[in-house]
Amino acid sequence: MTYQGLIQHYRQYLDLPAHTQAISLLEGNTPLIPMPRLGREFGCELFVKFEGLNPTGSFKDRGMTTAISEAVGRGAQTVICASTGNTAASAAAYAARAGLRSIVLIPEGKVAVGKLAGAIAYGAEVIQIQGSFDDALSLVVEITQKTPIALVNSINPYRIEGQKTSAFEICDVLGSAPDWLCLPVGNAGNITSYWAGFKQYQKGLPQVLGVQAAGAAPLVLGHPVEKPETIATAIRIGKPARGEQALEAAQQSGGRIIAVSDAEILSAQKILASEGVWVEPASAAGLAGLIAESSVGKFEAKGKKVVVVCTGHGMKDPSIITESFTAPKVIPAEYQALVEMVDA
Ligand SMILES: *Cc1c(COP(=O)(O)O)cnc(C)c1O
Repeated sequence: MTYQGLIQHYRQYLDLPAHTQAISLLEGNTPLIPMPRLGREFGCELFVKFEGLNPTGSFKDRGMTTAISEAVGRGAQTVICASTGNTAASAAAYAARAGLRSIVLIPEGKVAVGKLAGAIAYGAEVIQIQGSFDDALSLVVEITQKTPIALVNSINPYRIEGQKTSAFEICDVLGSAPDWLCLPVGNAGNITSYWAGFKQYQKGLPQVLGVQAAGAAPLVLGHPVEKPETIATAIRIGKPARGEQALEAAQQSGGRIIAVSDAEILSAQKILASEGVWVEPASAAGLAGLIAESSVGKFEAKGKKVVVVCTGHGMKDPSIITESFTAPKVIPAEYQALVEMVDA
């Protein structure tokens, strides 16, 4: 049967109210890409779950199809979210698809250009907050408690329902859960969803390595971070809404949550690109964590199946590349100049 989106595909596993009206852009069903060359370096069977190939370029579409479908079914007309960028683009796209008004709050000046452009293109009303993601989230929680506007951040339980499906897909492709799952952790909705998904699907449980950016690592430090800072803007979050659940997932799975530096994240981004997979910085945190743990002998990967979740596409944040590269050389439009340049 042709694929009709993840609600249709996994309906029996999703705890959604009967009033839910599926609004889909055929999200999910993303590739689990084998990474044999990179895997050999760790002695493991390595895969990338490339979530950047969802309709709006990040995994947020998995939870947005369910959250918007539920909101539409109960008659909501306006949805709102706080976002570091990808939730905004996703909410805007699904709201557009459903004919709803969408309002998104973002931290001023801290959203990658591909995400902001997406939110605007899909027709969201974008509002910049003079504050952090965490401040924006408090504001949207308050307005949705006091008005009929529907909240579509990942504290909305239907977001988690939709995001569980990535765990199902991994099990469906591999035949069982991998030994390890490595992924970035920001507001912690995604790690919560994967853990719930693996538990529910009963095809085995992975150990979970959650990875935060060192400048935004409340779950590693054990306390909120007032002014989170990292180039990985998608995980620039100081008070994760599902922090407790993230710690529980890590602990129950026999895994852990660690922090890596921005330099380690950018290096992992380069390594993935050198294998043909370009992801935005936050999305490289899972691999950065795997490398960091392996290099100090804390990650026994030998003979294991390891899935690294790459949460968003590189095109979301082109400036991280274009601001640091040296501009391509310019030559006259002449054959001789080309031959000299390429040293052929
Ligand atoms: C949202 C997001 C994250 C963090 O996910 P949480 O559920 O907030 O932990 C990581 N990477 C990308 C690309 C994201 O958009």
